Amino acid sequence: MADDNNMSINNIRTEAYAAYVNKDTIRSHSTSGGLFTLLAERTISAGGVVYGAAFDEDLHVVHTPVRSLDELDRLRRAKYAPSRMGNTFAEVKALLEQGTPVLFSGTPCQVAGLHHYLKLDAPTLESMKSSEGMEELSAASEQMCTDEKVKSHKSDNEVGAISINWDRDKLILMDLVCHGVPTEKAWESYLKFRQQEDQQETLASEVNFRSKSTGWGQYSVSMKYPSGYEYSCKSHYDSYMIAFVGNMILRPACNKCQFKGVERCSDFTLGDFWGVWDLKPEMNDDKGISTVLVHSEKGKRIWQELCKKVISEPLTLEESYHLNPSMIEASAVHPMRDELLSRIETEGFAPVEAEAAKIRKERMEHDAAVEKANRSLIRRVKRKVKRILYS
Ligand SMILES: Cc1cc2nc3c(=O)[nH]c(=O)nc-3n(C[C@H](O)[C@H](O)[C@H](O)COP(=O)(O)OP(=O)(O)OC[C@H]3O[C@@H](n4cnc5c(N)ncnc54)[C@H](O)[C@@H]3O)c2cc1C
Ligand code: SF4
Repeated sequence: MADDNNMSINNIRTEAYAAYVNKDTIRSHSTSGGLFTLLAERTISAGGVVYGAAFDEDLHVVHTPVRSLDELDRLRRAKYAPSRMGNTFAEVKALLEQGTPVLFSGTPCQVAGLHHYLKLDAPTLESMKSSEGMEELSAASEQMCTDEKVKSHKSDNEVGAISINWDRDKLILMDLVCHGVPTEKAWESYLKFRQQEDQQETLASEVNFRSKSTGWGQYSVSMKYPSGYEYSCKSHYDSYMIAFVGNMILRPACNKCQFKGVERCSDFTLGDFWGVWDLKPEMNDDKGISTVLVHSEKGKRIWQELCKKVISEPLTLEESYHLNPSMIEASAVHPMRDELLSRIETEGFAPVEAEAAKIRKERMEHDAAVEKANRSLIRRVKRKVKRILYS
């Protein structure tokens, strides 16, 4: 995948940036640099609707429309569970036909699914049909489309071989750099496991997978319970995050993801700019920096508007995925994935916890050794400074 990408990279018109919103209140509530909020605010100010992933009351992740700035926070922050789409595609189409601006944000496969449903000219159409994980979505999209004869309408909106009867400029598509998504069953089983570990009578009522209380680089997972009890753990040690990042509980489709590369059917792609430490260390204040890919002419016009509210530096396309392989290649299959996903069905989260605990133990021992070495180094430096000062 990476090689294919490199072969065509010089022909791509996509622009890449390292960027963050110049407002701490937005960044602190966002996963990375807070650019999604700027796109969402722009859409809402124009009387539009923003679709993104929110938790429902049971902490399932559901694609949800937001029409006001007050509700926007529900969509912020990455949720590491699959987002249920429901009737989202049909709703988006109806809104566009009424002339309402829409920002649709989601994983690359969701954005490609909507692109296909709306019959836009998607370069990813064929790959979407061949993607095992998207077969259901593709079939559902096609089913939803069968009743709706797309009206022939000669205008600027004619895209590829098919015409659309709404203003293409009113739709903004934003996708993410995507590591993959764990199964819903894995997420449900972890919530129950946590409830037991935290000795609570009910499941958690709030979750933040990307709390910046310990910084952006070493973010934490936090959960709040109705009792007032709070769980907080660096993601590095949290069992669910160890299993997610370590590919133990990813949906099998994600290991064969067909939606990788710097070329997308979206207007914008957002991710964490993990390459910042190597490439732009002067930008890193540990409050969150995004990689932003701007793909379309419309995206470039919007980016010019947003630039006033953003600190940004241009990147080459290669720099945009430095230390971020999820941009260009599917996550590797963990050798125990199938076994763990099947055991979750009957045993809950316990088998995953057992695997994650081994990794956590190694990390704790490693971190303790590093801390000990650092303390000893500081003591040696202090002794040396004293000797120099008093000799
Ligand atoms: C499952 C998942 C995996 C990711 N993997 C990577 C990765 O490997 N590397 C990387 O650089 N970046 C990854 N990201 C993207 C990154 O974490 C940020 O979401 C992105 O940088 C946007 O940051 P922000 O501060 O602008 O967004 P925020 O304001 O925090 O908004 C988050 C956006 O993500 C959307 N979203 C949240 N959860 C989901 C979900 N479950 N399904 C669909 N959409 C969702 C929301 O609707 C919103 O638009 C991933 C995100 C998700 C959701
Ligand atoms: S890894 Fe690919 S298939 Fe999986 S959620 Fe992300 S875009 Fe979709």
